[in-house]
Amino acid sequence: MDKSALISEVKKRRDELVQLTQALVRIKTENPPCDMTEIAGFAEAYFRDAGIPVQRYEPVTGRISLIATLQGKGPRKLAFNGHLDVVPAGNLSTWRVDPYGGEIIDGELWGRGSADMKSKIAAAMVLARILKEKDMPLPGSWTVMLVPDEETGGEDGTKWLVEQNLVQADAVIVGEGAGRHYGVANKGSLGVDLKLTGRSAHAARPFEGDNAVERLAALLPRFRELESWEPDLPAEVREIIELSRPFHEENAKKRNVPVDLYLWSLGHTTVNVGTFRGGTKRNVVADTAVAELDLRYPPGVTGGEVRAQVEKLLQGLKADGLTMEVAFDFEPFYQDVKAEIVQISINALRELGICAEPYPVFKGSFNDCRHLQRGGIPSVVLGHDGSGGHVPNERFNVEEIVQTACLYAAVAFDFLGKGAER
Ligand SMILES: [Zn+2]
Repeated sequence: MDKSALISEVKKRRDELVQLTQALVRIKTENPPCDMTEIAGFAEAYFRDAGIPVQRYEPVTGRISLIATLQGKGPRKLAFNGHLDVVPAGNLSTWRVDPYGGEIIDGELWGRGSADMKSKIAAAMVLARILKEKDMPLPGSWTVMLVPDEETGGEDGTKWLVEQNLVQADAVIVGEGAGRHYGVANKGSLGVDLKLTGRSAHAARPFEGDNAVERLAALLPRFRELESWEPDLPAEVREIIELSRPFHEENAKKRNVPVDLYLWSLGHTTVNVGTFRGGTKRNVVADTAVAELDLRYPPGVTGGEVRAQVEKLLQGLKADGLTMEVAFDFEPFYQDVKAEIVQISINALRELGICAEPYPVFKGSFNDCRHLQRGGIPSVVLGHDGSGGHVPNERFNVEEIVQTACLYAAVAFDFLGKGAER
């Protein structure tokens, strides 16, 4: 079976791709609580029915990962990584359909998880089924890795699998959204809690106290100074930022923001004060104030370096009673665009006519790529975006799933064929 035969076989499976996505969307997998029992049972049965060996892991009750592998003759291994969990549907009055109905309206498949990322999971599963039916025409192995917990950090999903050395792959396709392009970078996120302790007093005599709310509020703008820090970025990261310019030009136009601001933000730490609270009562001088900050930092920089910058700033502020704590640190991710899996993906996007000039998609949000990176496994984000995830009325055009399945097939064919005899 040559590549074009494989691609035309995938194209014939449109209905199968759509129906499988509908079935996956109809199984509610909201995280929290992240109970994957039903959907993992469904997917496991799918692989077993197709005669594809599948392993099941459950490090925490309900947080189930599946690894299904079709062994090819050659030594090369390519895996797909997809998360089964979805963010909650949220306020149902903002939805025009049942978020778990999997309805198709005017060629679009609607539902929570439809775009992020059950349709991509369906593409990888159907590809496995085709390869099995055709007696594995690829010279290497195709693995479908389905994980829980991505939406809340991946601790019990991809991160756990990597730490247990269960991800046996030379490269991984991660099925987040990259539209007609490819994703190779994400910023890191350091959650910092600032707490200022003052001294309470009667509101009638504020001069007897030390108002924590007033003092912390006055200090917060100073944290913007972190944005002027110029980190020493690796050349590969600078290259990705420059190559991703067209992606940000699209955003800039849509939102009427200068594109340079987007490009600047990719190479610097940005500061957001997300919450602020303090005091106990109107008639009492506030003795505490707390602010929660989200610092997004570039690939090539560590959370430790950002933390050191915050500490330096705190020292300079010399504010009595001001302390900081790190609430979380989600490290950034970047994949050198010269890596084989990236180059093969770019070629496939061009060859299939999905995009003539694919560019790297560089987002501020995180995904599971960073866990693979820590395990030394190259990865690339490939797959349609649809409406994007985490929004009401999430949906995608059903033609997109066929395109994505073709893309996975082409990348698998080319990647596994490299260095193998045919
Ligand atoms: Zn996702």
